[in-house]
Amino acid sequence: MPHHQKAHAMRALEEEIIAFNITPELAKQAHRLVIGDGNLDADIVFIGEAPGKKEDQQGLPFVGAAGKFLDLMLEEAGMVRADVYITNIVKYRPPNNRDPKPAEKEAFWPYLLKQLEIIRPKVVITLGRHSMGYFLPNAVIGEVHGQPQQVHFDTQALTVIPLYHPAAALYNGSLRQTLIDDFLAVPKLISKL
Ligand code: URA
Repeated sequence: MPHHQKAHAMRALEEEIIAFNITPELAKQAHRLVIGDGNLDADIVFIGEAPGKKEDQQGLPFVGAAGKFLDLMLEEAGMVRADVYITNIVKYRPPNNRDPKPAEKEAFWPYLLKQLEIIRPKVVITLGRHSMGYFLPNAVIGEVHGQPQQVHFDTQALTVIPLYHPAAALYNGSLRQTLIDDFLAVPKLISKL
């Protein structure tokens, strides 16, 4: 799909989420929908959990503390935000940053798949258990983190690399180092695909 068509399709998806009143309870309390940000022709799509306070204010994913850490790791891995696409499984901020409910994740899952159909990345990188759970339902993060997994969704074949969530790793020394090590190994893994 040409770039302008992708941009159009992504805007249409946003309008659909709003028109169909997806997760009305979250929609009511959030300031705005945070659909995602970055390059619609990216080879890599990062998928986090849900917008937090800063994300809800700015309408962009990963712009708070976890986002700063993500930016730092991207830079160390030789990438910038404009090279990749970043989104979340749930597109509205849950009140007080509570965990998204299963029904909320379920409601947004078809839209996440549609986003991937538009972008058609080579690799999906899940950040944390909420997005990993959908792509790799039986995986245990402690066992599979940093290791590429092959998955199929009807028309799409994807490589999924599950990583720890930057917010979980931010203040945990050993997890932090594990996430950084996994992250820095990503470009090499992708070059082998
Ligand atoms: N944490 C997430 O999972 N997503 C964001 O967009 C910000 C913080």
